[in-house]
Amino acid sequence: MAATETTGTTMDYAARIARAQGEMARQGIDWLLVAPSSDLVYLLGYPAHTSERLTALATPQGGGEPFIVIPRLEAPRLGARQDLLEILDLRVWEETDNPIQLLASGLGNPQGKTIAVSDQMWSGFLLKLMAAAPGATFVNADLVLKGLRQIKAADEIACMREAGRLTDEAWEEFVATTTLAGKTENAVGQILAAQMAKRGLGPPAFMIVASGAGSASPHYLTSDKVIAEGDAVVFDFGGNIEGYKSDITRTVHVGEPSAEFRAVYAIVDEARAQTFAAIRPGLPCEEVDAVARRVITDAGYGEYFIHRVGHGLGLDVHEEPYLVGGNRAPLRPGMVFSDEPGIYLPGRFGIRIEDSVLCTEGGGELLNNARRDLIVMR
Ligand code: ZN
Ligand code: ZN
Ligand code: ZN
Repeated sequence: MAATETTGTTMDYAARIARAQGEMARQGIDWLLVAPSSDLVYLLGYPAHTSERLTALATPQGGGEPFIVIPRLEAPRLGARQDLLEILDLRVWEETDNPIQLLASGLGNPQGKTIAVSDQMWSGFLLKLMAAAPGATFVNADLVLKGLRQIKAADEIACMREAGRLTDEAWEEFVATTTLAGKTENAVGQILAAQMAKRGLGPPAFMIVASGAGSASPHYLTSDKVIAEGDAVVFDFGGNIEGYKSDITRTVHVGEPSAEFRAVYAIVDEARAQTFAAIRPGLPCEEVDAVARRVITDAGYGEYFIHRVGHGLGLDVHEEPYLVGGNRAPLRPGMVFSDEPGIYLPGRFGIRIEDSVLCTEGGGELLNNARRDLIVMR
């Protein structure tokens, strides 16, 4: 992802590492180990290669300097990042070195230490590290990173507002200038992707174009199926600005829809609107989901709303917080998540309407404002 590579310079990574170190101190965690993943992008703006060659960022508690274990052939990418060289020690390993030993020796005496390891550290690396660091306790780095990543800072929010606004623009131009009937889902997806690329949103982070009966499958695999008159078409797509994702869904109908389709559309949109209206700091995540579920259940379609109402959004398309039954964690200002109820009638049609929303002190702020009335396309 070349687009993310240059991000680096606009974000304050030193501040993020300092926040992580503060959180580690609070929780008594001695080291934070982060493998290539969006966690690493969060801390360094470095979208590292995931491969059999170990790359790992090791951050000590307190104000100490982090180091990164990195294979020789990847080092030039980081070497080009002046901002990181000032806050980070590069420990480069050659093809014949043992990178686990290099990492373990950097951690010092492991006895009695608590080492937090990121979710996406491969077990192949972690198991060897555990053998090389006897006496240490290994815990999940989510203890540190989850809290940081789900509360977006001002620089992150700026990217996400921009990503949402440009995604809306791409959609509005797409619906105003495109016909669907006779084109394949893939072809239509490419037209929409071009609208996004033109606005600097990069290649789509994901693109679902689900037509006809396929629209009833929420994570449908877009294909060369030809879209026909009478089809519902669900578009669920997102791009990114500096790695921060947008995520929007709109459902259109090709040709005049039935009265039932219009009625179901209105129910989904009502569920979306009521969910948005309920958003405020302190509301448990599961209660956000319950709002949408109540609207759809009261309308008689409860069994066809087959997923949670929303997921957190940021460097990942799906991340914390999850708006799902059982999650009692309260909404907090700075959280960004989707509001995406849907009704899926197997073999017939599905309708989903999705916006991304920022939780502020005063309630929800829409990151997507593209029109939500039912669009009839040709
Ligand atoms: Zn999804
Ligand atoms: Zn989506
Ligand atoms: Zn979504």
